[in-house]
Amino acid sequence: RGARNSPYKARFKKGPRDSSSNAFIRQEKSFRQWKIYRPTILPNRFRILAVKDNISTTSFETTCASNFLRDYEPPFDADVIKTLYKRGGAAVGSKTNMDEFGMGSHSVNSHYGAVTNSPPFEAYSAGGSSGGSAQAVASGSFQAALGTDTGGSVRLPAAYSGVTGLKPSYGRISRHGVIPYAHSLDTVGLFCKDPEEMTAFLIASQDLRTRDPTTPTEPATKRMTDAIRREEARLGRWPVTDTKPLRIGVPAEYNIAELSPAVRHTWQRTLDTLRSHGHTIVPVSLPSTKHALSAYYIIAAAEASSNLAKFDGVRYGSREDASDNPTGVLYASTRGAGFGDEVRRRILLGTYSLSASAMDNFFVQAQRVRRLVQRDFDRVFAMPNPLHPENQFDLADMPETTEMDSKLGPAEVDVLVVPTAPTLPPLLKDVKSQGSLAGYTNDVFTVPASLAGLPAISVPVPIAKEAREEGNVGFVGMQVIGQYFDDFHVINVGTMVA
Ligand code: GLN
Repeated sequence: RGARNSPYKARFKKGPRDSSSNAFIRQEKSFRQWKIYRPTILPNRFRILAVKDNISTTSFETTCASNFLRDYEPPFDADVIKTLYKRGGAAVGSKTNMDEFGMGSHSVNSHYGAVTNSPPFEAYSAGGSSGGSAQAVASGSFQAALGTDTGGSVRLPAAYSGVTGLKPSYGRISRHGVIPYAHSLDTVGLFCKDPEEMTAFLIASQDLRTRDPTTPTEPATKRMTDAIRREEARLGRWPVTDTKPLRIGVPAEYNIAELSPAVRHTWQRTLDTLRSHGHTIVPVSLPSTKHALSAYYIIAAAEASSNLAKFDGVRYGSREDASDNPTGVLYASTRGAGFGDEVRRRILLGTYSLSASAMDNFFVQAQRVRRLVQRDFDRVFAMPNPLHPENQFDLADMPETTEMDSKLGPAEVDVLVVPTAPTLPPLLKDVKSQGSLAGYTNDVFTVPASLAGLPAISVPVPIAKEAREEGNVGFVGMQVIGQYFDDFHVINVGTMVA
């Protein structure tokens, strides 16, 4: 196969699973001796990447941490791998452990066993589903890693593992070659230690000519970039200087009773610091946020049930021997043996919400909520959404001013700053005993940006001494969310927050 001649093919296929956090599935043994001479924008130490195991690579099997794909060797490299090679000179050093097909928030639903947080916090969740990639960076084995974020799978592990994780705008990085979970939400995400390095990483990862139909074309990209420039000039707030303060939005709906004290304290401290640097903090309201989580779990499961239909042991996947099965049902025995519990649960949930009797009440309703969530964001951002300029907030369109509106004002904010997760990482033993629902609720602060396709970054902020939780990690993930395609401003504010 042509792919066999890939210039960035690793020389060793199966390596040891040598990380104490169980982050690596297959590792290139000799990558430390690699010399890459291509001059590029990526710093040298970013040139060997850890890559989540749902991103196709010809140099290693790509299994999605599923028994179903345990032997799957993709015949091509994902677009993002090719782009990073072409523009960043980067090669794949390791495939990382994850929740099976990206379904989970703690990287425990894996055929290879759970990922754990870095010592001395092994008892705690590393976050999921890209927990392996987050730990690859947190442990110092890699300076940069790729993950995927459908509903928070880059931001949540970044927050729990103490690294920086970026979910770019939907479509910004090509998904061609990324094994889909929920295609209207899936994005390729990036991990590195410091937000300062994220800009170069994002530039090296995006390409205008891709095989992903949702990646903006060259004219669309130009149009959106021009629109951002025009807004920059109109608002006069970028680049940020002491004399040009930003307006930073704080949505009331994120200030929930379930916030752990350490998270609340750190959020407050972050806002205080931003204010002391001259930025204005603006309370805003995103009323549909409270329905976002339910809508996400309907839409993601529905799309997953359709995307995973191709894994039947005939077209894709390892076939179970159905010959001794009395009913002889090849599909059923193959799918039954191949998928883990959580994946099966999602498929059942998805096929149910798409069935004729439930469709209107679940799937269609969830799509409506998704639109409302998107509109909420567009209403608060000063920058119009380049895809939906008609959503821009206009006072004249408002029928009457309610008490809430007058209190919260016609918000015109540049970015939102909120926690990435309501709590610090939970104990792995609690995760296992609590079941899936507790895991779903962890995504409450990450799914709104996913439903709206917006860029969001999670950066680690140290917890002040007096707010530390005994035994738990010493940082909280703070999230910056921005308008569609405004990724570089989001990264910019991330560097101020960290
Ligand atoms: N925890 C979420 C889920 O299980 C998000 C997963 C993801 O972003 N891949 O669906």
